[in-house]
Amino acid sequence: MKSHVKAVVIGGGVVGCSVLYHLAKAGWTDIMLIERSELTSGSSWHAAGGFHTLNGDPNVAKLQAYTVQLYKEIEEISGQSCSLHLTGGVMMADTPERMDFLRLAHAKGRYLGMDTELITPSEAKAMFPLMDETNFVGAMWDPVEGHLDPSGTTIAYSKAAKKLGAEIVLRNRVVDLTQQPDGTWNVVTEQGTVHAEHVVNCGGLWAREIGRMVGVELPVLAMEHMYLLTEPMPEVEEFNKSTGREMIGVLDFKGEIYTRQERNGILLGTYEKACKPWSPVNTPWDFGHELLPPDLDRIAPSLEIGFKHFPGIEKAGIKQIINGPFTFALDGNPLVGPVQGLTNFWCACAVMAGFSQGGGVGLALSNWMVHGDPGFDVWGMDVARFGEWAGLRYTNAKVRENYSRRFSIRFPNEELPAARPAQTTPLYDTMLANNAVMGDSWGLETPLWFAPKGKEPKDIVSFHRSNDFGPIGEEVRATRERVGVTEIANFAKYEVSGPGAEEFLNRLMTNRMPKTGRIVLTPMINEFGKLIGDFTIAKASEDRFMIWGSSAAQKYHMRWFEKHLPKDGSVRIHRFDQTLVGLSIAGPRSRDLLQKLVDVDISTKAFRFMDFREMAVGGAPCLVNRITYTGDLGYEIWMAPAYQRLVYKAIKDAGEEFGLVDFGMRALLSMRLEKNFPTWFRELRPIYGPFEGSMDRFIKLEKNDFIGREAAAKEQAEGPKLRRVSFIVDAADADVMGDEPIWAKVSKDYGSVEKPHGYGAPRFDTSGKEVRGSKAAEGASAVRGIVDGEWRVVGWVTSGGYAHYVQKSMAQGYVPAALAEDESAGLFEIEILGHRRPARINIEAPFDPSGEKMRT
Ligand SMILES: Cc1cc2nc3c(=O)[nH]c(=O)nc-3n(C[C@H](O)[C@H](O)[C@H](O)COP(=O)(O)OP(=O)(O)OC[C@H]3O[C@@H](n4cnc5c(N)ncnc54)[C@H](O)[C@@H]3O)c2cc1C
Repeated sequence: MKSHVKAVVIGGGVVGCSVLYHLAKAGWTDIMLIERSELTSGSSWHAAGGFHTLNGDPNVAKLQAYTVQLYKEIEEISGQSCSLHLTGGVMMADTPERMDFLRLAHAKGRYLGMDTELITPSEAKAMFPLMDETNFVGAMWDPVEGHLDPSGTTIAYSKAAKKLGAEIVLRNRVVDLTQQPDGTWNVVTEQGTVHAEHVVNCGGLWAREIGRMVGVELPVLAMEHMYLLTEPMPEVEEFNKSTGREMIGVLDFKGEIYTRQERNGILLGTYEKACKPWSPVNTPWDFGHELLPPDLDRIAPSLEIGFKHFPGIEKAGIKQIINGPFTFALDGNPLVGPVQGLTNFWCACAVMAGFSQGGGVGLALSNWMVHGDPGFDVWGMDVARFGEWAGLRYTNAKVRENYSRRFSIRFPNEELPAARPAQTTPLYDTMLANNAVMGDSWGLETPLWFAPKGKEPKDIVSFHRSNDFGPIGEEVRATRERVGVTEIANFAKYEVSGPGAEEFLNRLMTNRMPKTGRIVLTPMINEFGKLIGDFTIAKASEDRFMIWGSSAAQKYHMRWFEKHLPKDGSVRIHRFDQTLVGLSIAGPRSRDLLQKLVDVDISTKAFRFMDFREMAVGGAPCLVNRITYTGDLGYEIWMAPAYQRLVYKAIKDAGEEFGLVDFGMRALLSMRLEKNFPTWFRELRPIYGPFEGSMDRFIKLEKNDFIGREAAAKEQAEGPKLRRVSFIVDAADADVMGDEPIWAKVSKDYGSVEKPHGYGAPRFDTSGKEVRGSKAAEGASAVRGIVDGEWRVVGWVTSGGYAHYVQKSMAQGYVPAALAEDESAGLFEIEILGHRRPARINIEAPFDPSGEKMRT
């Protein structure tokens, strides 16, 4: 065993082996994988080996598609078979709502280059005859699905890595990790200490324990999971013989079941409601190649539905029941990337679908380690996406909830109840008393909307407009015409101070820093010229700046700030989290209201638009920004939590004469739509350049050398490839939710968005004939593919909804820049729940386009 390497990867499951392979492929060959026992000694060996490309997050879906495509490559390099069975698979919908969900997933697939197709239950049955198709209303076919040999695949990765020069050390547990003053690591193992520049936690079932070695409690939990294998079934053999094909994979939402052919029988797995965590506090180090005792009673309700939906399986004898543990993060996606607060400590764990995601995780992480950037939009699996609130107990509750509804639909207006309330502001009880419907905003309870008196404060979950539509409209109108107040504790807040503060911010941000007492809006970009942040910055004094940003990105941004902090101590960063909370008042009477609460002049000239002041509001020391996300005249008022009730009461009392209303986050988001304001993580993400994001006026290339300046200058000189645009949509009773395809009728080619990768299993129709390409659309209800006559998919929606004041359905999204700028380009349609609705680009904000109201 070497005593010094560039990187140590801990864990020889499928993920560790994939990370090792990708690091070696990227040129880091002085690397070592250390495995406690033999390879696949965690959850990898007993996996069902299924793989698929679909994921709720389109960016993770892309990495899953990459994983599937990779298997041929590692087979070739290693000479080891993965026993790949590319059968294709279907997702079965038993209700119209689940069919809506499939329509949405299918629509997303258009610009992701996926070749999915909506088919009838009978068409699905033709490929999996054991089902009773009368239980279903429709299905979605995905040709890029199948199964493989989990151990063979893990070994193929490891052999391919070894061929490229990586070392693998078996039967050697890592017992401790200690960081050296220079940021490198001593990896203490049973066989001695290895010094490494980087450490990667691929500990799978033990990832949490490895995190604890460096003082981090990762939000990951192992759950017991069962699947059963039947005896050989004559029906399966007969199908194989008569068609010359294997049966496909089937996913049944209702039963939370997956099933497929395994040898001459069937494999059927469940995500049961009565799920059970495994080793919820500490994972035993002596657990290895063993299984957990099966518990048929626990999965009986799922099996009951399964046997009803797939009566062909019920008759078969059960040969074996596998019960094994595997890990999940809170939302079911992996935890990947550098851990904030530590140097050179990386994670690739909580990978619950190692055979769908392992390749993509390995690629993203190796890019990140070797080139400083994952190369993709990996926010959906970034280890920084959860905060300190995601502790052991929170994780336990949330992972169980996620597991038990693994295949359930999450409606766009659905808030999930587990582990709530976690964090609350001092106004929590007041908001409940005001009939607020609360939502979870990065672990913080936040008012979403206010139900009318006498009505239960509860969302009716739906893909369509729901019971919040009327009340949100009221909140918006009252705010726009009079004045409204809302809680804004769910923003991120930082203070950057010290003699080097301004220089530091100038180096990180694309806009000039403000003068004392003023505010600027500024994006932040990385070396590659991609958007990684969007902030409001106020200069409080010569060497003190206040910064506000996206709540969910707090750890993500802190990681970036810390990476670039000068080593000489001239800059300090403080993240307030919930030690600073806020209220925003907005609307034409907001100044009159605020004037009653302060003892200084806040007239237009004395307190201008984009001014910042420290002042007492209702007697409480506050920081006040003359700015609001509603795009109206308004103020953001920030205070210590101890003063929040005092300030809120003062606002409510003073507001009575002006007809003040409470409004929630949904009204705020509706109001920003009619101002064409973007949101972070929706419109602004690390896959877009600042000019693509239409942030042109905040990019000051001439100010000084800032990170990403060169790349931004290049983007500007060459012209952005994409453009963020705003649309007005002729919607019916459903508005866009995000991720819908944008169609255009175009007479020329404006550049392709994404082409189908054309890699997948052919589909067969009820008569056994192969159906391929556009022919597969014949007879199917939905138009498939990215071209339909003169219409083609030209982009995707990032977010939208109903803009209540201007009474229009609106959407924001990306299309090729040339198309956005061509006024004669033609017509647009946005596909909402399978229906293409006419849409038109809307350049001027429909509400107060000149910005006069907010400047008044
Ligand atoms: C019943 C069941 C069915 C499944 N079906 C599927 C499926 O169909 N498709 C799919 O994609 N996924 C499936 N999975 C999930 C899949 O198994 C996991 O996604 C995958 O195994 C995760 O791999 P990993 O490398 O992260 O972790 P693991 O496989 O747990 O590997 C971690 C490795 O790290 C080693 N290790 C830990 N700590 C140390 C230490 N301190 N020192 C040295 N070595 C250490 C362990 O010994 C182990 O070998 C299933 C899981 C189960 C249990």
